[in-house]
Amino acid sequence: MSTEDLLGTQGSSKGILFLLSGPAGSGKSTLLRRALDEDRNLLFSISCTTRCPREGETDGVDYHFLSDEEFSKKVENNEFLEYAEVHKWRYGTLSNAVIDILNDGKDVIMDIDVQGADQVRGCKDAVISDALVDIFLTTPDIAELEKRLRGRGSEDEDTFQLRMQTTVDEIKRWRDYTYCILSGNHEEDFEVLSSILVTERMRVSRMAP
Ligand code: 5GP
Repeated sequence: MSTEDLLGTQGSSKGILFLLSGPAGSGKSTLLRRALDEDRNLLFSISCTTRCPREGETDGVDYHFLSDEEFSKKVENNEFLEYAEVHKWRYGTLSNAVIDILNDGKDVIMDIDVQGADQVRGCKDAVISDALVDIFLTTPDIAELEKRLRGRGSEDEDTFQLRMQTTVDEIKRWRDYTYCILSGNHEEDFEVLSSILVTERMRVSRMAP
């Protein structure tokens, strides 16, 4: 008799939906890329956005880059699990894409802002609510975030001030999340995120059937 027979866990379990939020400069993108590179069971939720691609970004890989009209059409058709305006652009997650992956038993990680996180938490679909694990990433102090953002040097002063204001507003929301990672260095952040993924996958309630 196999262990699965013994435990009665043969069959398919649903995937986990890891939702990651955090202000610009928290190291979110680097952490996400590393997790996706090293964890074969994790798939990226590709968002839609109306902003233009940055250098090195590919349509259908980093984002689905849409026109304003295309985005509005998807809103009208109720295609979004959540959507929000961030820094004057619109961003949204397609429901079907996420639900299909979860039903397929694979885990998904999404990088969305605090407004989108509110909407996902409020989602009534049991596939989403049972799967959701929300995580906030930030540096322990705002000066470090400001230093990291300044260090990028890619923005004019107005854009920088707008991003800093959004950052302050976002950090105030950290208590809404189940987990909060206080960013140290890339290695430490990755270790903490990995331990959350491992722990959540070991929950008896998630084991099939
Ligand atoms: P960026 O333009 O730098 O890639 O992303 C800007 C912000 O938009 C980030 O805080 C990111 O988390 C957020 N974002 C990216 N995709 C989505 C999405 O699908 N929904 C929401 N609500 N926010 C998103």
